[in-house]
Amino acid sequence: MQENQPIENDSLTMNRLKNLSRVEHEEFDLCIIGGGATGLGCALDAALRGFKVVLMERDDFASATSSKSTKLFHGGVRYLEQAVKKLDMEQFRMVNKALNERKTLIKNAPHLAQPLALLTPCYSWWEGIYYAIGLKIYDWLAGKTNLASSEWLSKKAALRRVPQLNEKRLKSAVLYFDGHFDDTRYALAIAKTADSKGAVLLNHVETLGFTRNTEGVLTGLQVRETLNDEDYLIKAKLFVNATGPFSDRIRQLANPKAATRMRVSKGVHLVLPRDLMPGDTAVLIPKTDDGRVIFMLPWQRRLLVGTTDEECKLTEKEIALEKDDVAYLLKYVNRYFNKEIKPEQVKSGFGGLRPLLQADPSEDAKSLVRDHEVEVDKTSGLISIMGGKWTTYRLMAKDTIDKCEQILRGDISECATDKQLLIGAENWVKDDYKRLARKFGIPEYVTRRLNRRYGTEAIKVLMMIWKDPTLRHPIVHGSPIIKAEVLYVTIHEMPCNLKDLMSRRLGLELTDWQQTLDVMSTVASLMQEALWFSSTERERMIALYQKEIIEFKRTAGFEI
Ligand SMILES: Cc1cc2nc3c(=O)[nH]c(=O)nc-3n(C[C@H](O)[C@H](O)[C@H](O)COP(=O)(O)OP(=O)(O)OC[C@H]3O[C@@H](n4cnc5c(N)ncnc54)[C@H](O)[C@@H]3O)c2cc1C
Repeated sequence: MQENQPIENDSLTMNRLKNLSRVEHEEFDLCIIGGGATGLGCALDAALRGFKVVLMERDDFASATSSKSTKLFHGGVRYLEQAVKKLDMEQFRMVNKALNERKTLIKNAPHLAQPLALLTPCYSWWEGIYYAIGLKIYDWLAGKTNLASSEWLSKKAALRRVPQLNEKRLKSAVLYFDGHFDDTRYALAIAKTADSKGAVLLNHVETLGFTRNTEGVLTGLQVRETLNDEDYLIKAKLFVNATGPFSDRIRQLANPKAATRMRVSKGVHLVLPRDLMPGDTAVLIPKTDDGRVIFMLPWQRRLLVGTTDEECKLTEKEIALEKDDVAYLLKYVNRYFNKEIKPEQVKSGFGGLRPLLQADPSEDAKSLVRDHEVEVDKTSGLISIMGGKWTTYRLMAKDTIDKCEQILRGDISECATDKQLLIGAENWVKDDYKRLARKFGIPEYVTRRLNRRYGTEAIKVLMMIWKDPTLRHPIVHGSPIIKAEVLYVTIHEMPCNLKDLMSRRLGLELTDWQQTLDVMSTVASLMQEALWFSSTERERMIALYQKEIIEFKRTAGFEI
């Protein structure tokens, strides 16, 4: 059995040029298409089992749905309700699996995932009893876990936890626990761990088509590296389609006769200032007029509210928060809050497409079972992993690589990802930020951020200050992001443009559009310093990104 393996590559630098050169000259066992949670999970699992694996992402790692989730590792209280109402054993099994997985995912990256208390306000005694019983079943299904059990709260206790709740008609509340995680940094941690185990990862590489042998079996993937418009042919024994909502596109590229299996539903969040609900407890609004749930979660220095759930057409365009979404979400928040929140208070917003596996085309998206399936296309040999959710990414990867191993080796070895700590997790200490702040003479809010985002790698960011003391300065007065952090992620984490850097590596775009605009030029200069591109290129990048953020603001209803 493979125990947690030490990270071999101490420099932990994801090197794009080296990886492109490997793609040009080497042949692989597995080629994975798609660099969201599922594809990255497959790359890590395959590398740990000794496969030579390459992963191609057409945009940036986790740029699609995997950085736009509600950031919960959960069994899904909504699915549990459906399971109870319909006495659906399959749904019970799914909730149970996801609840077990919560434990493993928190353990493997405790710096990026922690338990979160969620409070459901109850407005009648009957509601209180109904939710309390439901959540006891949730606890029971979770079995032995690293999260506390649910509890019933009196009105007074509920208001002590969340004083901002509207107390009119409030009777009681129920408190329960789920996992809360930084989805984007978690995805990057999987990527960096996979890279350290020998997986070859590439972002900004678009799929063009496949080559086949005389029997029609896939032998190569034709791709275009989109920064320099250079074409490559990737040779591999097996091809894995992990493109989430876009799975049908790759399936039909491999086999034009393949029937569609995916439906997508759009979900958006809005982001508010944290001081509107400054405590550590989240709120679950259990029922909207159209039968959804809405979460209000403390998230970094913000309050995250979401999500909507609307069946839609597949689109490559980034899903943006629209003015109507703001009105919809605030309508419910204001129903449950004692102080009205106005659209002008929105700091940012983001959305994604849920990759829903088609169960029965006549069903609506809300009642679809969100489980996953590994499909082997008999004609082309393409392996597609479809459906699932963030919480089950590791199980999805396991099932996929089990199938690949069975095909390539005729046998299945033990999957090691349940024991594999992600980069930054080994010997991580929650309070180490205090020691780091003292050691480097910088504020605790800076080291707390670094300790959370990079785990034990935070020290490497801070060591840069020893070489160049100016790197201790924040990118703008009062920001917890220091210049050293920007340089560190630019050098080690393969961002290719300003959006990769500010949205995925630093997380700024997702939390504050105005601040993103304000610091864009400073961040671009730091990036230029590290990557040595021209000033013309720097200006081009800024103009492009500025336009995009302004468009996000306009779409959300801000007058520009
Ligand atoms: C609003 C919302 C909230 C959610 N909240 C939660 C939650 O709280 N907890 C939870 O467990 N789950 C949640 N989910 C579900 C979860 O986010 C997704 O199931 C998961 O992120 C899907 O990951 P993926 O890797 O399969 O897909 P994606 O993250 O979409 O990754 C697919 C990747 O494939 C790439 N790609 C596509 N086509 C090509 C191509 N031709 N060539 C190369 N690359 C390509 C894309 O660019 C993309 O990066 C939520 C989903 C939504 C929409």
